Amino acid sequence: MKIVLATGNKGKIQEFKNLLPSHEIIAFKDLLGEVEVVEDKDSFKGNAIKKAKEIYKLLNDENAIVLSDDSGITVPVINNEPGIYSARYAGINATDEQNNTKLISKLNERNLTETPAYYTACIAIVYKNEVSSVHGWMHGKAINKTLGEGGFGYDPMFIPNGYDKTLGQLPSEVKKSFSHRTKALNLALKVLEVIL
Ligand code: IMP
Repeated sequence: MKIVLATGNKGKIQEFKNLLPSHEIIAFKDLLGEVEVVEDKDSFKGNAIKKAKEIYKLLNDENAIVLSDDSGITVPVINNEPGIYSARYAGINATDEQNNTKLISKLNERNLTETPAYYTACIAIVYKNEVSSVHGWMHGKAINKTLGEGGFGYDPMFIPNGYDKTLGQLPSEVKKSFSHRTKALNLALKVLEVIL
């Protein structure tokens, strides 16, 4: 199955390729070049659907299957920040390092060395002009430092429940076995089985 991914995030593209080894995964940029989709909705679902629909429209191919992922980390103790603003927490075009530094400073302001946190992924699927969406979550804690080089985004400061290491330290196979994206993708695959 050939699936166009409506994301430019290299970390996510790599995870989707690892999660769907028997499918051909194409990043939309390889087909359409630079396209900016403004993420101005107030939920992961709203933004995921917007990204998938806009890329589907631009592809202008009725057989295209477009998957988008809108995701982020939520930290309840700081009013659910950064949530849908995860990618641009420290500003538009912020690096992962800058976003991590901002989240760490928010925890330090409250003298927290760790606090419950969770990742959400919403995957939207557009095929034949019809839209479906599914969610997955991964719970754990955010810590006030980064440990390890693996993963992307907030992974070096996130310890999943049941572990004592961050996703930056744990092998990618561990994250793959229960991540928010894996859970959402397993549901997305069920949707694809039904619609295709
Ligand atoms: P989006 O591309 O607008 O959905 O933004 C997603 C942002 O959320 C990323 O840039 C990361 O900062 C964060 N994020 C989402 N999923 C993950 C993950 O699996 N690990 C680490 N950070 C993630």
